[in-house]
Amino acid sequence: KELSTRENNVAKIKVVVRKRPLNKKELARKEDDVVAVYDDAYLTVHEPKLKVDLTAYVEKHEFCFDAVLDEQVSNDEVYRKTVEPIIPIIFQRTKATCFAYGQTGSGKTFTMQPLPLRAAEDLVRLLHQPVYRNQRFKLWLSYFEIYGGKLYDLLSDRKKLCMREDGRQQVCIVGLQEFEVSDVAIVKEYIERGNSSRSTGSTGVNEESSRSHAILQLVVKKHPEVKESRRNNYNNDGNESRVGKVVGKISFIDLAGSERGADTTDNDRQTRIEGAEINKSLLALKECIRALDNDQIHIPFRGSKLTEVLRDSFVGNSRTVMISCISPNAGSCEHTLNTLRYADRVK
Ligand code: ADP
Ligand code: MG
Repeated sequence: KELSTRENNVAKIKVVVRKRPLNKKELARKEDDVVAVYDDAYLTVHEPKLKVDLTAYVEKHEFCFDAVLDEQVSNDEVYRKTVEPIIPIIFQRTKATCFAYGQTGSGKTFTMQPLPLRAAEDLVRLLHQPVYRNQRFKLWLSYFEIYGGKLYDLLSDRKKLCMREDGRQQVCIVGLQEFEVSDVAIVKEYIERGNSSRSTGSTGVNEESSRSHAILQLVVKKHPEVKESRRNNYNNDGNESRVGKVVGKISFIDLAGSERGADTTDNDRQTRIEGAEINKSLLALKECIRALDNDQIHIPFRGSKLTEVLRDSFVGNSRTVMISCISPNAGSCEHTLNTLRYADRVK
């Protein structure tokens, strides 16, 4: 299979919408599917509404994006339409970010989970190609979470991390463990390990993780030649990673549920604080992507922890893919419209 290496082929910002199928509960309730996908780029939402005299009517909303994927589309095809084209240019100093945005239950995690695995598979294959074989490139993986504005390492017992900027405005997450990954089976293990460390709290699985952003990074580094005797001094606790120079990277971000940003009037103080933080970060993210799209010199990344962490992915040779996930059922209509409007603003 041939992967294109001409970087100009790949749009700087791509906004893709993915609709999930109605689930069992929604089918049992005989809920209407209010989202219609017409071709690869166009969709309509039929919003059920009531007049003041309680007569029902439907308001139709139309949207257009770089790609619209309906409920028939497989994860494999999602990969091909979003991440695959970026992979070759990671070796050409590209920093890429792929976001999954949407309300809780819209399919963010379902969409995001397989992507780093497929990406790692392709990256590892490229590493072994003759052109790169002698360049001492290695692939590193890290996985962390932003929860209530704080960073936690998902691959080392939720160790709390802090962020620092070096003199060259490079973001450094102090203490973040990076692991060399030379085959895909290992990547799978790390992802599973990280997932089991995600915030789950006592209330339930989706409940707490929907309030955090999970960030998985695959980083290609170029390593200096080391003598065999020195090499033995390194262990796999991420130390060797610091010796390498970042060539390019791709970050996969499973964002907090977009509806959580509205939890700012909740009775529970903690929930309110988290809601405000999520709201702030999703707004800041939108502003950064828009600034990026307009080739603005000043990117407002200081607006939130999320955008600060991603700072080096918003400058220079960057690529951004936003996958907006939507639920098809009538009951989710308001959230679906909010998600589509957000995506529309980013575009
Ligand atoms: P989120 O991460 O946005 O809260 P999930 O990814 O957990 O949502 O998805 C909610 C449920 O819907 C899960 O059971 C998931 O398996 C299912 N689901 C999501 N998207 C799809 C899809 N495109 N096809 C089939 N099932 C899906
Ligand atoms: Mg999820």
